[in-house]
Amino acid sequence: MEKVIGIDLGTTNSCVAIVENGSPVVIPNRGGYKTTPSMVAVTEAGKRLVGHIAKRQAITNAENTVYAAKRLIGRKWNSPQVKNAVATSSYRIVEGPHADVRIVLRDKEFSVPEISAMVLQEMKVIAEDYLGEPVSKAVVTVPAYFNDNQRQATKDAGEIAGLDVIRIINEPTAAALSYGFGRNVEKTVAVYDFGGGTFDISILEIGAHGVFKVVATAGDTFLGGEDVDARIIDWLVSGFKDEHTIDLRQDRMALQRLKDAAEKAKCELSGVKETEINLPFIISSGRNEALHLQRQLTRQTLEELSVDLIERTIDICKQTLDDAKLDKDEIEEVILVGGMTRMPKIQEAVQGFFEREPCKGVHPDEVVALGAGIQGAALIDDKQEMILLDVTPHALGIMTFGNVFEELIPANTTVPTHRQKIFTTSRDNQTAVKIIVMQGDSQKADENELLGEFILSGIRRAAKGQVEIEVTFEINADGIVSVRAKDLETGLEQSIQVTATSGLTRDEIKAMVDNAKDDLLDRRSSDEIEAAKQEAQKLIADIEKLFPQVQQIVASSDFGREAIDKAKAVVEKAKQAIDRKDLAAIKEQIEGLSRTQRMFKGVVAKT
Ligand code: AMP
Repeated sequence: MEKVIGIDLGTTNSCVAIVENGSPVVIPNRGGYKTTPSMVAVTEAGKRLVGHIAKRQAITNAENTVYAAKRLIGRKWNSPQVKNAVATSSYRIVEGPHADVRIVLRDKEFSVPEISAMVLQEMKVIAEDYLGEPVSKAVVTVPAYFNDNQRQATKDAGEIAGLDVIRIINEPTAAALSYGFGRNVEKTVAVYDFGGGTFDISILEIGAHGVFKVVATAGDTFLGGEDVDARIIDWLVSGFKDEHTIDLRQDRMALQRLKDAAEKAKCELSGVKETEINLPFIISSGRNEALHLQRQLTRQTLEELSVDLIERTIDICKQTLDDAKLDKDEIEEVILVGGMTRMPKIQEAVQGFFEREPCKGVHPDEVVALGAGIQGAALIDDKQEMILLDVTPHALGIMTFGNVFEELIPANTTVPTHRQKIFTTSRDNQTAVKIIVMQGDSQKADENELLGEFILSGIRRAAKGQVEIEVTFEINADGIVSVRAKDLETGLEQSIQVTATSGLTRDEIKAMVDNAKDDLLDRRSSDEIEAAKQEAQKLIADIEKLFPQVQQIVASSDFGREAIDKAKAVVEKAKQAIDRKDLAAIKEQIEGLSRTQRMFKGVVAKT
């Protein structure tokens, strides 16, 4: 049976898992790491880099290296979060053709789903290398608080990466699945998930026979480790400005170095009380003199800098408990997920709030991917007894007269679900009705997220109020919204795609799918060329090292001179094949090189 992979597409790191012989396992990447940085870069030569290799060159290629793209996915250009990212990112973010967001790398514009697709494709390749077979199906996780636009854009990213995303599940829910898998627990648990870019809290009831029911969820999709890093950067930048009257933010490379150092210091301060941030030659003074940045950061200062961010997560926990109509003491286990939960102050705050020590049994970086892998396996295995009941994090409704948000499906409703609403015409002979679909938690329509609008046209001509149209709003198990409309008298039905104004069109996605395929072919073959090249170069080096010795030994015979000439020719041909990057020719020469190397070694050994 074909394997389904589970992918945790994180803001900072991504992770892929599968179920093997009944147990979920995380698949390490080629470097042996279980997580891969969600970073993408384009080099000067136009080569695309993803993961650790992109991270390693981020400082020297800051403008063309994307990190935290997940913070931008499914967002509109004019949103405050995008404005914030434009001001603080070391890469260029511009407005796209649908008032969406594009990222510029080496003068080429990429949509955010395309960037995320590169990370997903990398995870797909990691799984394929491990399994030794192609993978086409995946379960991908998203923050519980993602709205329909963000979920849809994540699904688009999967499609561009050549993956059939058979289910989108919420990160905290995935973590709970992994926690409860095979343990036969019956408990009410809270999953506190503080990652690189987002914060989520979900409360679940884990019941007998593998039933996982989410009772309530809430979060903030723009609150994460990145914000803590930003506080450290602000602190460093303002300290440097006070001392030198120079704004380090003007320099993209300096900014990337600050970001790197801030994150490193933050992580170190989870283990030690004080650390030094040391960035030599950070900028020039403008008078031909290099300036250095050197500062001590204590755990206490870090906690002061991030206190309000931590408090915000606790406020959201309070709100979720209220929504779930539960008291703190009814929560029987608190599960910590996400790299930020390693910060002692966060552990302390969570423990203080829930008045219970959090569970230590799960790995905060791997638990989400493991849960996605478990769900993937369950979806294709009929024998698996596991039921996952999630909720929609936001209310779904329509905009009505006077900027009023009319709620149709409240937040925390179990999905899949649907609601119907009858619309009547308000004018005689009215032939069209405009319906504006929104998602959010404000009673004022314009404070919510616009999912899309559609015009119901071709309505029968009749006196006002005489035509009744039933509109069905549906949220599927992925949390994705669709809408259908039916003329109740004629039974005529229309299915309406709610396409967000910021989403990609079908044609755009199709073109991106083709591009991504080409790129993968390119990447696979360039990886193969690189491996063959290294093998050939090693053999050439061995042969060249032995040359003087062998020449001395065999030069006295014709046969020997001939062998030397042949060896020289093989080396020459191999070098040319390497220069041409001709894979078939390199492979062909490797055989000749191996033979020569063996022969040379034999000659030397014998004398
Ligand atoms: P995730 O999205 O779960 O991969 O979490 C990544 C976030 O966790 C990033 O902001 C990291 O800087 C942060 N992180 C990772 N390790 C630590 C640590 N030891 N202490 C504090 N933060 C950490």
